[in-house]
Amino acid sequence: MKILDQMYEGKAKQVFATEDPSIVMVHYKDDATAGDGAKKGTIRDKGIVNNKLSNALMQKLEKEGIPTHYVEELNDRDTLVKKVQIVPLEVIIRNVAAGSFSKRLGVKEGTPLKAPTLEFSYKNDDLHDPLINHYHALALGLATQEEIDTISDYAFKINEILKKILLEANIRLIDFKLEFGRLADGTIILADEISPDTCRFWDATTNAHLDKDLFRRDLGGEADAYQEVMKRLLG
Ligand code: UDP
Repeated sequence: MKILDQMYEGKAKQVFATEDPSIVMVHYKDDATAGDGAKKGTIRDKGIVNNKLSNALMQKLEKEGIPTHYVEELNDRDTLVKKVQIVPLEVIIRNVAAGSFSKRLGVKEGTPLKAPTLEFSYKNDDLHDPLINHYHALALGLATQEEIDTISDYAFKINEILKKILLEANIRLIDFKLEFGRLADGTIILADEISPDTCRFWDATTNAHLDKDLFRRDLGGEADAYQEVMKRLLG
């Protein structure tokens, strides 16, 4: 597949056109940002871990009936994916209180939730991705009711599948963020990535952070933690 011009550069990834208009190539960088872009840095080989891990998890989700954008891993950092129009919602699923949920609702980090919960944020950098509910999403025309139902249903199913896969690697899935996209015919599929950048992973024995919180909170050891997650899940 011939790779053409760069279409877009985000904080952690670049996207390139290909000779097939329905396929794009994602390149995963080591760049990391936190605190709404206030903190910038790199995490050694993060791009490799996120590329390989996200691809492996998406392939497992496909096998369980979740449609994803994954097409083909080209090398350590580059993957072909289906071109989508991203639905401008960050879909956050939580199993255990942490981060913004703990702050906003005064629930101590690490408190297990009585049921998994779902939040939407409006993907809009100028507004700093504000928390919204599904009525706001409808009112703003970000998605239809049918799309929101599909996305919510997939998100909770993905949670159950990922929790099981991770626990087999002695990792607790605390919370995570998903993004969905529309194919040309309107079909909703899982897009973006599933990685230690977008999930909170805690060691199931020690509750040690194995994710981007090490970087966000200046705790250190983030590059080793990413490698550890890859080793446990991909061998
Ligand atoms: N998350 C993300 N991108 C964002 C915001 C959150 O991938 O822009 C992920 C984050 O890694 C965590 C989950 O979504 O796994 C919930 O994050 P939270 O709302 O607690 O925000 P934070 O405390 O990271 O600001």
